[in-house]
Amino acid sequence: MQTKHKLLFIVTLMLLLLGAATTINVGLNFREYSIKSAKEKAKMVAAVVKDGLTAHMVNGVMDKRQYFLDQISINNEPVKELWIMRSQSVIKQYGKGFTNESVRDALDKEALATGKTVSKITEDTHSIYLRMTIPYKAIVTNSSAKCLSCHNVNAGDTLGAISMKFDMTNIRSDGLLTILKIIGLNLLFIIVVLYLINKYITPYMDLFSNMQIGIKKAYSGDFTHEFETSVQGDGKQIALEMNELFKKMQGTFGDIKFNLATFIPQGVQDTKDPLQEAKDIIKELSDIYKFKKTIELDTSKDVVYSRIVDVLTQKYELKNFSFYEVDIHADTRKLIYISQGDSICHDYVDEKASLCRAHRTKTDVISTDFVDVCKECVANDLHYVCFPFSINEDNALILSITTKSKSEVNKINQQLPSIKNYLEAAKPVIESRILMAKLRDTSLRDGMTKLYNRRFLEEFIDTVMKQAVRGNETYSIMMLDIDFFKMVNDTYGHDVGDKVIVSLAKILNESIRESDLAIRYGGEEFVIMLHNADEEGAQMVAQKIHDAFGALKFTVEGGQVMQKTISIGIAKFPTDGDTVWKTIKFADTALYVAKTTGRDKIVRYVPEMSENDGLR
Ligand code: GH3
Ligand code: MG
Ligand code: MG
Repeated sequence: MQTKHKLLFIVTLMLLLLGAATTINVGLNFREYSIKSAKEKAKMVAAVVKDGLTAHMVNGVMDKRQYFLDQISINNEPVKELWIMRSQSVIKQYGKGFTNESVRDALDKEALATGKTVSKITEDTHSIYLRMTIPYKAIVTNSSAKCLSCHNVNAGDTLGAISMKFDMTNIRSDGLLTILKIIGLNLLFIIVVLYLINKYITPYMDLFSNMQIGIKKAYSGDFTHEFETSVQGDGKQIALEMNELFKKMQGTFGDIKFNLATFIPQGVQDTKDPLQEAKDIIKELSDIYKFKKTIELDTSKDVVYSRIVDVLTQKYELKNFSFYEVDIHADTRKLIYISQGDSICHDYVDEKASLCRAHRTKTDVISTDFVDVCKECVANDLHYVCFPFSINEDNALILSITTKSKSEVNKINQQLPSIKNYLEAAKPVIESRILMAKLRDTSLRDGMTKLYNRRFLEEFIDTVMKQAVRGNETYSIMMLDIDFFKMVNDTYGHDVGDKVIVSLAKILNESIRESDLAIRYGGEEFVIMLHNADEEGAQMVAQKIHDAFGALKFTVEGGQVMQKTISIGIAKFPTDGDTVWKTIKFADTALYVAKTTGRDKIVRYVPEMSENDGLR
């Protein structure tokens, strides 16, 4: 119910209650007064009758009394019936009197017996009567008419009684009429009051409701409401000031939102609430600022990636997703992180990143947009949102989020702009870490073969060794050298020599696992470190390299075919040498043995070989 209606209802109710209380009060008082006045009148009639009868008695015309009594009834409108009766003592002295002078009802009986006035009201819807019986008592007076001079009774004895039936119907009708008039006046008063309240309160109430609407909108950040009122004076002033204030608020929050939004490229969700949006933007900015400050101190790209994964799992509560890095030039894709299970893409996508629809089209791929939208997806029972993110010309990222429910897709879609804000913040840091790693990689790799160089060995061998000791790991170390290589250069030129070196490097790369290391140690000398390989395994790898290289055929000038051989020395860390450098030296010793005993062979180091070296 509106406030105005509530107010009108309460006022009406109060006035009605007041009117009803007044009317009931007046009605009851009127009835009481009417009965009282009827009784007084009856007493007066009784006194007159008594005096009349005494006069009749004194004048000796007691037998004419009926005429006198009838006249009283006739001349007094409300007296409908009137009769007198004698007490036993008077009957005894003067007889029973006329036949109508007898006890007629219980009231008469009671009045004669008790000597007290008795009355009773009888009423129905049409009429109301007062029945009253008043006893006459023998009293001692100084007047000429002395009761005790004629009656043989004692003072105070009941001589008889007079009974009357008083008609109060007219009085009641007058009372009812008065009450109706009061009710009418009350209703008129209520109508006037309600009209006046309605007239003067309505504009204030309208202003009040209007303000309520405006404030409600303002609460959700919408300050576009215009306050209107027909009230003059203070009310109008308030409306005008509120309009000013709201205009200012709308402008200010709009500006704040706009200015803040420029800090975060993807923006935040549009909620039509500038207050909420400004708050969200500030929160987002602060979170991103903290994130950026943290990753700026991270030394590698991998740590930055792990921070992104933390944000995705903790802030966005993503449960199932995979995160990839793309090498644009090689067109390959590498999995950085997967929350659980396997990738939802076909395996071959890693080898040919351009097959990834998100990466190729540079647009977000959302499974709910179109049936079977990505042809490379194998998880048909899952919904997915995949989006690409470019780092620079060489690298890009792909985030692939999966979910079982369609509604989750909408939620993820809403989170995407914010997630992209984080990636934007991380972009320059990732870019710089990639560049740093590249620079470092170039200085640690040999430009011609792309294998690690001797500097790498010098820088990292201590770390590798400590890790190996801590983890009880072993390295089978091979030293390789091409036989009579100088001759190649001398006979066919340096370019051919280079080709042979590159071919050998390729064989080495193809023959080892990811945990193994291949190093170009010198001109045509290579070191291979096989991680946790047993004797047999190390021999097999050496043999494989030896045979593969031996089988290579180089076509040289004049269509001639050239083949070369290789010598390999093997030693094991930490069983042969307790440091990697010592072990490399022993492998070199074994190589020397191979060279001096005919070349084109694999020689396993034995301690006797070092007997004259003074190393042990
Ligand atoms: P051995 O069987 O005793 O090893 O005989 P060798 O002729 O191979 O002797 P050595 O290993 O001492 O020869 C190394 C030669 O490799 C010397 C050098 O001219 C050549 N060389 C070193 N680096 C390069 C390179 O980058 N390119 C080319 N073409 N030749 C190189
Ligand atoms: Mg050599
Ligand atoms: Mg050589």
